[in-house]
Amino acid sequence: MAKASTAKKYVFLFGNKKADGNGSMKALLGGKGANLAEMTRIGLPVPPGFTITTEVCTYYYANKRTYPKALQAQIEKGVANMEQILGKKLGDLQKPLLVAVRSGARDSMPGMMDTILNLGLNDQTVLALEKASGNPRFAWDCYRRFIQMYGDVVMGVQKRPGEEHEPFETVIENLKKDLFAGDAHVEDTKIGAEGLKELVVRFKQLVKERTGQAFPENPWDQLKGAIGAVFGSWMNDRAIVYRRKYNIPSEWGTAVNVQAMVFGNTGEKSGSGVAFTRDPASGEKIFYGEFLMNAQGEDVVAGVRTPLPVAKLKTTAPHAYAELEGIRKILEGHFKDMQDFEFTIEDGKVFMLQTRNGKRTGLAAVRIAVEMVKEKLIDWQTAVMRVPAEQLDQVLAPVFDRNAIKAAKFIAKGLPAGPGAACGKIYFNAERSVEAANAGEKVLLVRVETSPEDLRGMIAAEGILTARGGVSSHAALVARQMGKVCVCGASALQVDYTAKTLSVGGQIFNEGDYLSIDGTAGEVYAGQVKTAASEIVQVLVEKSLKAKESQTYQNYAQLMQWCDKATRLLVRTNADTPEQTANAIAFGASGIGLCRTEHMFFEGNRIDAMREMILAEKTDNRKRALAKLLPYQRADFAGMFMELKGLPATIRFLDPPLHEFLPHDHAAQNDLANKMNVSVDKISKRVHELHEFNPMLGHRGCRLGIVYPEISEMQARAVFEAAAEVQKKGIKVKPEIMIPLVGFKKELDLQVEIVQRVAQEVMKERKVKINYLVGTMIEVPRGALIADEIAQTAEFFSFGTNDLTQTTLGMSRDDSGSFLGAYQELEIIKKNPFATVDQTGVGKLMHMACELGRKTRPDIKLGICGEHGGDPDSVKFCHHIGLNYVSCSPFRVPIARLAAAQAALADAKIGKTAKKSKKR
Ligand code: ADP
Ligand code: MG
Ligand code: MG
Repeated sequence: MAKASTAKKYVFLFGNKKADGNGSMKALLGGKGANLAEMTRIGLPVPPGFTITTEVCTYYYANKRTYPKALQAQIEKGVANMEQILGKKLGDLQKPLLVAVRSGARDSMPGMMDTILNLGLNDQTVLALEKASGNPRFAWDCYRRFIQMYGDVVMGVQKRPGEEHEPFETVIENLKKDLFAGDAHVEDTKIGAEGLKELVVRFKQLVKERTGQAFPENPWDQLKGAIGAVFGSWMNDRAIVYRRKYNIPSEWGTAVNVQAMVFGNTGEKSGSGVAFTRDPASGEKIFYGEFLMNAQGEDVVAGVRTPLPVAKLKTTAPHAYAELEGIRKILEGHFKDMQDFEFTIEDGKVFMLQTRNGKRTGLAAVRIAVEMVKEKLIDWQTAVMRVPAEQLDQVLAPVFDRNAIKAAKFIAKGLPAGPGAACGKIYFNAERSVEAANAGEKVLLVRVETSPEDLRGMIAAEGILTARGGVSSHAALVARQMGKVCVCGASALQVDYTAKTLSVGGQIFNEGDYLSIDGTAGEVYAGQVKTAASEIVQVLVEKSLKAKESQTYQNYAQLMQWCDKATRLLVRTNADTPEQTANAIAFGASGIGLCRTEHMFFEGNRIDAMREMILAEKTDNRKRALAKLLPYQRADFAGMFMELKGLPATIRFLDPPLHEFLPHDHAAQNDLANKMNVSVDKISKRVHELHEFNPMLGHRGCRLGIVYPEISEMQARAVFEAAAEVQKKGIKVKPEIMIPLVGFKKELDLQVEIVQRVAQEVMKERKVKINYLVGTMIEVPRGALIADEIAQTAEFFSFGTNDLTQTTLGMSRDDSGSFLGAYQELEIIKKNPFATVDQTGVGKLMHMACELGRKTRPDIKLGICGEHGGDPDSVKFCHHIGLNYVSCSPFRVPIARLAAAQAALADAKIGKTAKKSKKR
């Protein structure tokens, strides 16, 4: 093994337009190293250097922190190559070579070692630099920076527990006090050469005091120390925590880049900066970024001095600006994506130090993708693949005015559960929220947690804020379905329902006070911060903006049009009202995939009839109550059919346990008793009877319709009468009736019998023919296991993956908050299974059920209607197991469409490469 490794290439050189590596070698050379090589190859001005591969990092940890034997010689060759190109030499007393040692994982990673600049300086070479540059201040500035960086990251001279300032900073301050009559606040640039010389002496003293070691004078020792520190930092706590969070395997390792220095701090003709080829926030095609003259490296981001926008370079350094503009075009032309790059100007000459694909907001992602197609930089397929589906959320969400948010007072952090910005007066219960909203106020509903009883308040509110609960809590779920802004689990908030106050950090807010929440970032602000609906919503939903007046909308529409060209999997919506239906269709839904009929029973007087039905002891009484509900339900369905204009609608029969419809506290029971003219005891007795130890597994789903067939009968009648009514107006109707929670074929058979009979009756009565399907939800494992049997009756399956996940994992979603965090931390699970389909477990059942279903009924229609239908990863999975559609909440329809298109394009690409390799 030792032999094989001797022959191995551990060091890749770049410089003088030649490079051993290239941009595709990110795994081996890290992101920075691979792109330094690539930029060198295409002729950009990159200072020469070399990259030590990530394999050395792996070796280092596999072999008790030692290096492969062959490495030293290869490093020496690398240094020699730089020396030859530049005519300088490491440690030379006339022309010393100075280098930067830079870490370089595949993606830049916080927690990794900071870059060390000016390595190679010591008490002798600094004199050479002074002489060669004719600029003593510059030379000593480089030297003191080097000791500071090296002392900090390699020798560990850092803040000790209890110390407030970095020790090197303290030394600088003391020096300033000595030099400037006690003033520690003068800028660093004011310290002259002599002062910096003194600083070097004091820095070295500090290192000696803190480490007991002298600062290394030999450049080769310095180099060795710096390289070791980069590899060492791969396993420091911060890096490990970061990798765990972002699922980066520790085997990847980091590379080390050693590169000749260029100097941005030689005077006012030099500088350094970071820039983007386009604006990463808006996507606008402008040269965007900032720089500082007479500055080195991290000064730009460190915030010590305020950098200037790159546009200013046009006047400060016109030649350099023109050169950078040229480079900006070359970069985009070559990398075909927006680049985020770092540069240094040395005496007017530009050098490139880094480039990578720039991170961007959702808004920018869409704009850049669409405009790059127009510019013929990329094709439309690439554009579709470029926009992370999840990021579309940001494009659709209402937004805070950018300047307003800067001025606002931040008060708490929570989970970003419903993206967007909302502002309103706070109310602590649903009832008062509704009243306030009816009175024309903008309302934020603030609860410790929400429950179905809060639904009306949630609907009335602009946004929802909870102190407890995760991103799959009731509040979050409902917020997503309704496209409401929501911050949940803001645990610093103390909600006192009795006093009607919210206290946080010593501040108290009363009911009626204003708060603002940012559901994209999960932040809570005091007071009123200005908001607006996204332009896309203004065009499609509010219709308050014309399409041709909104560039953002046009970009979005273009992207969606490309999606439709690529996609196979259709996207439906979960909607319970005509309004939600209309919104979803505006967003491109191709029908309703889940209409939860129970939501219709909460409004107005309906809940009374519903309660009467539940309290009824005899079938007759129950039927009478149901007859009161029938017209409501029929009207709801008719409204939705009108909006659908011929698109299909999957309607699920009553699903939740009945006790959810009854009041639980005594006062409300009393009210109900008075209203219904029965004794309060009777009501509390019934509530008691209906109480279940485990409602999720109790009397719900089709079990309701089995025990009370008259409920299913009423619902079927409502659907078909509505269908007949709408069809008579010349509008096509395609109801798909869905029986929930089926685990036995007989359950479905009994319910389908009712549906078919009522359908016949209504068609006869109304003298119409209605096209409809009857199918089932697959949401308990038994249903999936016997899917072939069930498919004899079911004309379609829709996977109810919320319950299927709960029942397959034996894990209650609402109780999982207490342990899921630990599970993710320990990597027992990678993602929250209630947000992203657990593909290996639940997904296996789904896949199996699809195949069994198709075996019995080859043309069986397959869909999914759990919350997962709006999750991009899950959508891609649904594409792969061959579902016909996914269904998700209206405001996630565009996201699902994008994910579905991406899945189809990824397939097409695999197909293409497979064909190609066959040809060969
Ligand atoms: P990070 O990964 O944190 O961006 P870098 O290795 O890119 O760290 O280094 C940070 C900064 O140090 C760069 O933006 C650049 O200004 C400066 N720097 C890096 N290499 C050199 C070099 N060869 N010459 C001059 N400055 C450099
Ligand atoms: Mg960098
Ligand atoms: Mg269910």
